Amino acid sequence: MIRKMEKVAPFKEIIEVIKESGGDAFKLCYQCGLCDTVCPWNRVRAFSMRKLVRQAVFGLTEIEAEDMWLCTTCGICPQQCPRDVKQIESGVSLRRIATEYGVFPASAKPVSAVRASLAGEGNPLNMERKERARWAEGLSVRPFAEGMDLLYFPGCYLCYDPRMMKVARATAKVLTLAGSDFGILGDKENCCGESIRKTGDEELFKRLAKENIKTFIESGVRKIAVSSPHCLHTFKNEYPEFMVHFDVVHISQYISDLLCREKLSLSREYRKKVAYHDPCYLGRHNGIYDEPREVLKKIPGIELVEMADSRENSLCCGGGGGRIWMETPKGERFSDLRIEQAVATGAELLVTSCPYCITNFEDSRLVLNYDEAIEIKDITEILQEVI
Ligand code: SF4
Ligand code: SF4
Repeated sequence: MIRKMEKVAPFKEIIEVIKESGGDAFKLCYQCGLCDTVCPWNRVRAFSMRKLVRQAVFGLTEIEAEDMWLCTTCGICPQQCPRDVKQIESGVSLRRIATEYGVFPASAKPVSAVRASLAGEGNPLNMERKERARWAEGLSVRPFAEGMDLLYFPGCYLCYDPRMMKVARATAKVLTLAGSDFGILGDKENCCGESIRKTGDEELFKRLAKENIKTFIESGVRKIAVSSPHCLHTFKNEYPEFMVHFDVVHISQYISDLLCREKLSLSREYRKKVAYHDPCYLGRHNGIYDEPREVLKKIPGIELVEMADSRENSLCCGGGGGRIWMETPKGERFSDLRIEQAVATGAELLVTSCPYCITNFEDSRLVLNYDEAIEIKDITEILQEVI
């Protein structure tokens, strides 16, 4: 912060600004360094959350530097921290200051285009709002109407990204075959706002969240199934800040329940060796480890294997905290390490249930020339082949 910010506020004031932005827990740190030991960045390059915390305590944060934009909010260091420093919330507080002053390093520059797209069209991908339900063309998916049991909320990547649209279609087919009474909001759906909030843009998050909440209430939504763990996290844990509570489940939970209640029957075998990857926002942030595995274990023929880092210790794909929109140089991508771990198990398939993970793994698979060795799938894509 010194260089550019010293004109704006001396150290003491900077400490106040950090405090006001929600970074007060920084002062609890006693510099043990455990966060750096577990942080996935230190498998690919040097990065110190401990140092970031120390600088913030003394008001020495270099606001224009790259470091504060690196954290993927994977959640592994808060799990280890003996002083409850709340590294994610505190780290986001620094990004709020940078956002407020409009100071971004080169790697975070794409975020401004994302903001414009979110503000204008409700999605981060520079796509038109009216195209939001195009993924459902040719399927018997109905618009959500009051009285329906379930709102299916695919989220931005599943609505627009060509690879992820396949997952939305697979999910809709599974729900239809199970006889679920569900609908979608189509162009009334907005980005959930989870990731833009992590980049420090609180105002845009609030706007997106309020618009979604208004639509849910006006449409008579009671239960929501989401495909993205990021939508799950924000609907379940952050939208209650607006005094609303919706019954929100991740699609893996919803499908696990359908299988338990015998609403879905699995009629074919799937003879493959499969590794399951725990997305950070499904596992560590929301404690959902078992349901996706239970769904996979029920599929006849599947051999489920675990990778080197799994469940609470899962290795982040690199896409959280807004990093999905930022450029990560070759050689520094966590998803490359994860693909190596999956290949090392002998798995033919790496299965997960998050749009950011699938996007990053598909990229790494091609870059590493593993396109023959391993496939990437969402759980619903396997299910649609066996029901
Ligand atoms: S683990 Fe917690 S207490 Fe230890 S250095 Fe990191 S932030 Fe500070
Ligand atoms: S939340 Fe994850 S990426 Fe961020 S500093 Fe902690 S361990 Fe590193």
